[in-house]
Amino acid sequence: MPDTVERLRWVAEAFANSHNGLLITDRDGIVVDVNPTFTAITGYTRDEIVGNNPRILHSGLHDAAFYADMWATLDKEGAWQGEIYNRHKNGEIVVELIAIHAVHDAHGQVSHYIGNFSNLTRFKRYQSQLEQMAHYDALTQLPNRVLLADRIRQAIAWVQRQGTLVAVCYLDLDGFKPINDRHGHPVGDQVLIEIAERLRQEVREGDTVARMGGDEFVLLLADMDNLAEIETILNRIQQSIAMPLRAACDETVTASIGVTLYPIDSEDPDLLLHHADQAMYRAKTAGRNGHYLFDPEQDQQSRDYRDGIETLRQALNSGQMELYFQPIVDLRSGQPVGLEALIRWHHPQRGLILPDEFLPGERPGLENSALAIELDLWAIEAALAHAATWNTPARPLLISANISQRTLQWPQFTTQLQQLLRRYPMAAELHLDLEVYETTALADLPLTAEIIQRCQEMGVSFALDDFGNGYSSVTYLKRLPAQMLKIAPNFVADMLSDPNDRAVVESIIALAHAFGRTVVAEGVETTAQIHALLAHGCDLAQGYGIAAPLPASRIAAWLKDFKADPDWTAGDSHTAQRH
Ligand code: C2E
Ligand code: CA
Repeated sequence: MPDTVERLRWVAEAFANSHNGLLITDRDGIVVDVNPTFTAITGYTRDEIVGNNPRILHSGLHDAAFYADMWATLDKEGAWQGEIYNRHKNGEIVVELIAIHAVHDAHGQVSHYIGNFSNLTRFKRYQSQLEQMAHYDALTQLPNRVLLADRIRQAIAWVQRQGTLVAVCYLDLDGFKPINDRHGHPVGDQVLIEIAERLRQEVREGDTVARMGGDEFVLLLADMDNLAEIETILNRIQQSIAMPLRAACDETVTASIGVTLYPIDSEDPDLLLHHADQAMYRAKTAGRNGHYLFDPEQDQQSRDYRDGIETLRQALNSGQMELYFQPIVDLRSGQPVGLEALIRWHHPQRGLILPDEFLPGERPGLENSALAIELDLWAIEAALAHAATWNTPARPLLISANISQRTLQWPQFTTQLQQLLRRYPMAAELHLDLEVYETTALADLPLTAEIIQRCQEMGVSFALDDFGNGYSSVTYLKRLPAQMLKIAPNFVADMLSDPNDRAVVESIIALAHAFGRTVVAEGVETTAQIHALLAHGCDLAQGYGIAAPLPASRIAAWLKDFKADPDWTAGDSHTAQRH
């Protein structure tokens, strides 16, 4: 066994030569010793720090809560470890990984703290260089295609809220290759750097200029109002590029630019880039130094899109939207059981307009706008407000509202729905049902199933609308917890004349019942259809043959007066009474 003096000598050697910085304080946090590596990391010599509080190292980059947390952990657990940004004596920030532990005396009281530091600054710098390399072009320092795809996605998310446009502009230099050949690659590189700098100066903050490689660049212009605005920017850019090049003895190049616009075009960044690239080739073949739209119709469409959103939003905000309600009845009892809310637009000039003409799903690009969600939420809220007045404990009504795919998949949808339900406590007694197209539900089956599940936990059920026109497969149905299937009206309309349609109706009813779901026949117009549906065991029905969609003001009276036609059960085939 070495003697104590010998051991102390070894420990002192280890302390002095450790590659980690070591700092020892007393129980009050006053420094009693440091090793040479500590001095190397922080710049403070032993004499400068001993007797002081290590607080002099603070960089100001951590708040008081950070240190309070550190001390609380030290008190509780006797040790703490983490990354700290400290300040070197010369003012530079140093990133350190620090492990601190408490040393206890013979009575179990803390007598000292020992801090063990390693310097992460170089590692951090290396890490950020790697990030830079992964996302930026080494020559021009512009974002590369990886970062560009990310920026495109961000721009799309942004304009979906604003209802504006994103322009993806693919730019290729004309006449770059001859310069590169004549002057050599180093000059070519300088030209690209010079062009990159000009591009950066011509776009607004928030826009992105990326380099795709070679002499190809992409400009991402977000939040654009119209094509004229985009053209102004592109003209400016083309002028700027055509200026004499300092790097190449004042020679000149020009640029051909191809443009595509979201949301007229796809929301897939790769596809947008591909389309802009195709348009760029058209610009090149049409004569250099020009720009070209991927699809010339985008011009008109982008105007229609902006106008369409603007008009619809104004219509919604100025109370021109109204809900009609179409009764749903139980075929066997002949009792009204529910009402489907259907939106109508009272256009100041054109009169009453049906949803097929104005709903976002019917117009290019509109379904991507946040307006699709606003309209659906408005309709759900208006339906709840009306329904609260008709619903009685004796007659608990099913209130159905239609929602689009965009609303269903909107991440905030379930929380917004929850808030709406809280605002209408009466709604707790009625039964809110949301209708989504069968095809919509299948767009992302696991997600849809999860949303439906969450809504069910709030007491809201789902119906698959227009059932029969999609895949209508057993596998899908098994995985979708929707309680109701609505047979598409085209099958009901022809079920008496077309054996195929009749077979579809029969099998939907059988399928629904096999899975314990309720079936609603839509578009029921005649008593003969009602008889056939009853014979096949269909549960509920709606259609002109029972009642057309009615203004809310007429619903209370309808509910009071409605009597199912006795013919329904008499097996007669007269047309059902119209209301
Ligand atoms: P849908 O959900 O399939 O609604 C049924 C449509 O069939 C309604 O058209 C209704 O008026 C019509 N209809 C009812 N009975 C009969 C009948 O016996 N024969 C025939 N031929 N048609 C009948 P509407 O009101 O024009 O609605 C069209 C579509 O617009 C609806 O189809 C629904 O998907 C959508 N929609 C309506 N309101 C909203 C809403 O607030 N939000 C969303 N996202 N979509 C809505
Ligand atoms: Ca519907």
